[in-house]
Amino acid sequence: LVRVAVKHMEAARAISSIRQSINIPLVADIHFDCGLALEAAKRGADKIRINPGNMTDPAEIDRIIGSASEKNIPIRLGVNSGSLSDLAGSASSPEEVMVGSLLRYLEHFRRRDFKDIVISLKSSDVPSTVKAYRRMAGECDHPFHVGITAAGLPAEGMVRSSVGIGALLLDGIGDTIRVSLTGAPAAEVAAAKQILVSVGIRHFGPEIISCPTCGRCQVDLISIAKEVQFQLKPLDFARGRRATPRLRSGFVVAIMGCEVNGPGEAKTADIGIAFGKGKGAIFRRGEIVRTVDARDAVRELVEMVITEYGGLSDAKVRSVA
Ligand code: SF4
Repeated sequence: LVRVAVKHMEAARAISSIRQSINIPLVADIHFDCGLALEAAKRGADKIRINPGNMTDPAEIDRIIGSASEKNIPIRLGVNSGSLSDLAGSASSPEEVMVGSLLRYLEHFRRRDFKDIVISLKSSDVPSTVKAYRRMAGECDHPFHVGITAAGLPAEGMVRSSVGIGALLLDGIGDTIRVSLTGAPAAEVAAAKQILVSVGIRHFGPEIISCPTCGRCQVDLISIAKEVQFQLKPLDFARGRRATPRLRSGFVVAIMGCEVNGPGEAKTADIGIAFGKGKGAIFRRGEIVRTVDARDAVRELVEMVITEYGGLSDAKVRSVA
């Protein structure tokens, strides 16, 4: 799904044409103005997100509930710590304030018997966010949209998002996720994909694992791993007609620097290589299939992946010296 910020009536009206040009669900993000929510629903939004911190008039909330019921679309109740006036100076913990605020808000929807609700409770503080979601998971059965808000610039934001979202997903909490970075949205999508792969929820082609290298490593493992990742990158996006069933199910490629941990990791991967001095033993599902010169390792690994998993017919396989 994609979410758009609806700041004014012109933006709300534009939802009609945006909706027609995409084939994924469109969420309208609404703050302060009930009229924008009503217009967004009328224009074809697939979900309305409202913020309990700035949409508080019961009569207006009822109008949004009425509109969502009529259009048969869900409403996300998106608490954001930055919008909660009672958070500053509160004696309660941030998660208590967020959950308390949401429960009071949710009660209004329960009284109206409106159940098509998605919950989010985002804060920029990772422990508070995780605790708030965990606490809320014990209070209701609604789907959860999870994320760390205002996570920061990409390097730090990816780590903070991964810790927070990853902890929740591993708890079984979370139905959709959002990585919020101060940077290009494409980086948010890439990070979100990597989180889903890392917790084992989704697979998007090859997952490359490689060792950190140390004094035992006798090849340029960093260059080799980077080159293998670069050459296999198109498989991440090989969807639809080009995606073989084996490619869709995901697989692990291990690139290991020596005989200490190398053979073990390479054996348990789908395809792996464990290097020695200038050479590497290539494994396929637990068995050594050949030993190759380190200079040919990238080409040999990539060719084996393509043979096994398909989906890269136009690959230009290179070697790294
Ligand atoms: Fe070092 Fe070998 Fe472990 Fe790589 S696999 S970090 S080279 S001990």
